[in-house]
Amino acid sequence: MSTKAIKQTEYEVQVAQLQQEIERLNDFAALSSDWFWEQDKEFRFISFSGTGISRMSRNQIDFIGRCRWEMPISPDSYSAMQEHKALCKQHEPFYDFQYDIFNDEGQLQRYTVSGAPTFDIDGNFSGYRGIASNITDLYLARKAFKKTQQQLSQMIVGNPIASFVINEDHVITHWNKACEILTGIPATSVIGTKDSWRGFYDHPRPVMADLVLNGAIAKDIEKHYGHKFQPSELIPGAVEAQDYFPNMHDGRWLYFTAAPLQDEDGQTIGAIETLQDITSQKIQEEKIIHQAHFDSLTGLPNRFLALDRLNLLIQEAERNNKKLAVLFIDLDDFKKVNDTLGHALGDELLIQAADKLRSMIRASDTIGRLGGDEFIVLINDLEDALQVRPIAENLLKSFRDVFKVKNRELLLTTSIGIALYPDDGSQPDQLLRNADSAMYHSKSEGRNAYHFFTEDMNAGIERRLLIEEQMHGALARNEFYLNYQPVIDTQSELIMGAEALLRWKNPVLGHVPPDEFIPIAEQTGLIIPIGYFVLKEALKATKVWTEQQNSNFKIAVNLSPLQFKAPTLLNKIKKYLKTNQLSGGSLHLEITEGVLLGNQTYITNAFEEFAHLGIQISMDDFGTGYSSLNYLRQYQFNTLKIDRSFMLDFEDDETAPALIDATIAMAHALGVKVIAEGVESQSQRDYLAAKACNFIQGYFYSKPLPQEELTKLISNQQ
Ligand code: C2E
Ligand code: CA
Ligand code: CA
Repeated sequence: MSTKAIKQTEYEVQVAQLQQEIERLNDFAALSSDWFWEQDKEFRFISFSGTGISRMSRNQIDFIGRCRWEMPISPDSYSAMQEHKALCKQHEPFYDFQYDIFNDEGQLQRYTVSGAPTFDIDGNFSGYRGIASNITDLYLARKAFKKTQQQLSQMIVGNPIASFVINEDHVITHWNKACEILTGIPATSVIGTKDSWRGFYDHPRPVMADLVLNGAIAKDIEKHYGHKFQPSELIPGAVEAQDYFPNMHDGRWLYFTAAPLQDEDGQTIGAIETLQDITSQKIQEEKIIHQAHFDSLTGLPNRFLALDRLNLLIQEAERNNKKLAVLFIDLDDFKKVNDTLGHALGDELLIQAADKLRSMIRASDTIGRLGGDEFIVLINDLEDALQVRPIAENLLKSFRDVFKVKNRELLLTTSIGIALYPDDGSQPDQLLRNADSAMYHSKSEGRNAYHFFTEDMNAGIERRLLIEEQMHGALARNEFYLNYQPVIDTQSELIMGAEALLRWKNPVLGHVPPDEFIPIAEQTGLIIPIGYFVLKEALKATKVWTEQQNSNFKIAVNLSPLQFKAPTLLNKIKKYLKTNQLSGGSLHLEITEGVLLGNQTYITNAFEEFAHLGIQISMDDFGTGYSSLNYLRQYQFNTLKIDRSFMLDFEDDETAPALIDATIAMAHALGVKVIAEGVESQSQRDYLAAKACNFIQGYFYSKPLPQEELTKLISNQQ
C-alpha cells in the first residue's frame, strides 16, 4: 500500500469520525427542547435547530435572514434589547437575556437567550451562535407565586388585628403595624429574630410555634399556660393561650391564637399568630373573682373562700399529722349598736373589728368574715390543743380596748367558740358547726368568753332544732296555755293584777320552759301568732276577773321586740279589748330595752298610741341592760320592773340593796312606779316595803298559777 493510499485512508477515517461527532451534536440539538441559532456578522439569523423549533411561531421561522432587533418584542423588553445590542457590537458573549416576544396568537412568550461570537479561520468576526429557551411557564409560575406572597404580606401588614408570622425555624417574618402599636415593639427589631420580643416575659415560656409545630398536646399547653384546652380546640391546629407581660407598657394581658401555615403537601412551614390586648377584660375578671371571694366591707376572705381554705388546711394537717383550730368569733351585742347608732357606724365598727382580728393572728393563719358580725379564724400547725388557749385569751383581751368610731368610744366584746381538727370533726362544715355551738355556749355563759367544743353542746343544738320543729303547728294543736303570777300591792298587800306567762306542753318534748322556747320563737317569727294567742287568752281571763272580782284588775302581758314592731299589733289589741269589753287601763305591756332599739319615731308614736288607749307600759328586766336609765327618761313608762337577779344577789352582795334603793328613788323621781320581781323571802319583802317599792311579785306570794287557781286566790283574799 502506498503512503498516499494510507494517508487517504487516515483522512477518510478522520472525516468519518468528524461526521459521527456532528451527528452526535445534531442528535443532542434535535432532542433538546431548546433551540439553537446562528447569525452572520450582520446579526442576521442563518439557521435554527432543535425541537424547540416546532414550538416556534411562523413569524419566528420567517426570521431567517433578518435581525434579532426586528423581532416583535414587548416594550418592557426594550432596554434589555439595547444592552444586548451594545454587547453584540463589541463581539462579546452574552448570557440569559430575557425577552417577552409576542407569538402568532399575540400572546407574550418569555425567552432567555445566551450566545457567543464566532470567528473565521483568519480570526475575523463572523457572527454569533447560541441557545434560546422558552421559559414562559416558569416565568408565569414565579410571577404568580410572588403575587401571592405579596398579597399575603399585605394582608398581614394591613390587618387591624395584631398579627405576626413565623417560619418553620420560628424566625419572625412578618410583624404588622397593629402588632407594633399593641406591643410597642417596632417590626425592625423583631423581624429576622426568633422570639426576642418575648423577653417581655419574666419567666421562660415556650414559643407558641413550638407547640403548634411540634404537634401540641393539651397537657403541655395546660402546664405552660395554666389553661385547660378542650381536645376540639386543638384539632384544627389552632392554639389559644393568654399570658401576662409585666414589662409591656404598664403590664398587659395578651390573648394569642396561633394557626399553622402549611404548604401544598400539608407540611407545616410556619405559623400565623394573632395577639389581642385583653387587659381590661382581665382586670374586670379579676375584680369579679375578688368579689366572689372577698368581703367588700372588710376586705377579708368571705365565707366561701374561708371554708375553701379550711378544706385545704385540713388536708395539710392530715398529711403532717398536726392539729387545726377553727375559732368562731361573734361580736357581742353588735345588733344593738347597729340598730341604735346606725349602719354607717356599724360598718365602721366591723372594719375596725376585722383590723383588730387581723393584727392579732400570725401571717400564716387565716381570717375570714362569715357574714354579719361573725368571723372565723383558722390556726394551723398545732401540736397541742392547749396552744389555742393563749390565742383565744389574747383575742378577748384585745377587745377590751375601746373602739373609737366617729367621736364615740364604744366597748365591744366578743364570744368565741373553738373546734379542733381532728378531735371535733374532719369536715369543714362539721368543724364550723361545732365551733358555732361552742360560740353559742360562750354567749349563754354571759359572753366575752371562749369555749372549746364538747359533745353535749351538740346535744344543745339538736334540742334547739327539735324545739323549732315541734313549735310549728303547736298553736294549732293547742299545746300552749297561760299561767298567771299575781302582783301584790305592797301597802294593801292585795292582788293588784297578774302577769300572764306562757307555757308549752309538747307530746315529744314535754314541758318546755319559756326561757328556752321564746328566743327560738322570736328567731323563727312564730312569736307573733303565739303572742296574739297570749293577748287573746289573757284578756279573756281578765274579763272574768274584772267582772266578778276586782274591777281594777290589771293584766301584764310580755311583748318581744318583733311583736312590738308588728304593724297589726295595735288593731289586734283594740279588737281583743273590745271583744271582752275591757278598757285599755286593764292592760300592761311589758317590754325590754330590746324593743327600744331601731326606728325612734316609730317607737315614740307607738308609745303615744298606747297612752291614748290608756294602756300602761312597763320596762321589764330593769338592770340587765346598760342604758336603761336613758330610756326611762326618753319614753313614757308607767312602771319599771326590777329584775329578779337583784333579789338573787340581795343576801350575799351588799351593793344589791343599795342599787335597789337608788333605782326606786330614781323611778319615783321620774313619776314611774316600781314592781320588784322574784321576791322570795320575807326579808326581801320587808326591805322593799320600807323603800316604798309599789308592787311585789314572786314566789314569796305565789308561783305562776293556772287561771282557776288564781281565781280562787283572789276570792280567798276577799
Ligand atoms: P319575765 O318576764 O322576767 O318573767 C318572770 C319570770 O320570773 C317567770 O319565768 C317567772 O316564773 C319567774 N319568777 C317569778 N317569781 C319568781 C321567784 O320568786 N323566783 C324565781 N326564781 N323566779 C320567779 P318564766 O315564766 O319561766 O318566764 C321566763 C321568761 O319568758 C319571762 O321572763 C319572759 O321574758 C318570757 N315570757 C314568758 N311568757 C311570755 C310571753 O307570753 N311572751 C313573751 N314575749 N315572753 C314571755
Ligand atoms: Ca315579764
Ligand atoms: Ca322580768
